[in-house]
Amino acid sequence: MSKDNHIEPEQLFKLWGNHRYFPISQFYKNQFNEKVYKVSVSIAETCPNRQENSRMPLCIFCDEWGSAAYHLERDKSLQQQIIINREKISKRYRAKKFLVYFQSYTNTFDRVSELEQRFDIALNEDAIVGIVLGTRPDCLPSRILPLLKKTHETHYVMVELGLQSFFDHHLTFLQRGHDVARGYEAIKKLHEQTGVDIGIHLIFGLPDETDKEIIETAHILNKLPISNVKLHNLHVLKNTPLAELYKKGQFQACELEDYIKKVTLFLQHLSPDIAVQRLTAVASRWDELIAPQWTKDKMRPTQMIEDHLKESGIYQGQLVCD
Ligand code: SF4
Repeated sequence: MSKDNHIEPEQLFKLWGNHRYFPISQFYKNQFNEKVYKVSVSIAETCPNRQENSRMPLCIFCDEWGSAAYHLERDKSLQQQIIINREKISKRYRAKKFLVYFQSYTNTFDRVSELEQRFDIALNEDAIVGIVLGTRPDCLPSRILPLLKKTHETHYVMVELGLQSFFDHHLTFLQRGHDVARGYEAIKKLHEQTGVDIGIHLIFGLPDETDKEIIETAHILNKLPISNVKLHNLHVLKNTPLAELYKKGQFQACELEDYIKKVTLFLQHLSPDIAVQRLTAVASRWDELIAPQWTKDKMRPTQMIEDHLKESGIYQGQLVCD
């Protein structure tokens, strides 16, 4: 759908599977004509910030597993991880098609030949219809782009960029080790040289974050050649630099009510053409979570955001100007 074509909100909600925002599940359904689920694997073992002798500090929020969903399986082969996780998802959702999601650490940090082998293994597995690759904006060397382009010619490929913020002062606080300019550069390279779908990870709940910044973030995204966005609230995990700040009283986690307001504001200004992967972070390792406790809950925060959108008559793209 194009934002140039006027469409009534009720029609939009129907197209979005009765949601008030464009969920990624519907985006995949539009692409593949049926439900498609991500099978997360944990293969990459490091990133620029964590590599031996790195002078860069760790990202302030990152635990030792580098954002892996299934860190306990990381000693298993790629094929085993795909089989195990595909089976779980298949049983839970009766799913038939899957994307292999290379999630943890920085997946474009290894040699291209290794990445190519991993793609081959993944794409040769039953019912796998594509690849989703998580990486950082400053880890897309030119040598990797032809592989992404070639793979995209035969299969679905999405690159998820951990950009986290479109404001340099927030990236500095997060200790990302890259600036916003690297983010724009990565999006341009991916779009022009590979044609893959691009997803952007964002963090809300940053210190001194303003409504103006949230609105501006949506406006920036609306002009970029990206297909989706994934939202996280900044949360404190044990053994992270953020945990130290939290202990000293130098960081306060965003309360759920405030976070709901931020997401709502963002969605109102986000183009209805951009799919939303996730509305909040979920802390899957409860023993590691320090704050906020609501991040433990998988369903409730998302449901509360959905309820708030409905009760307030708010929906994605509501305040987007042509
Ligand atoms: S968030 Fe990613 S880039 Fe940052 S330290 Fe963790 S694994 Fe490395």
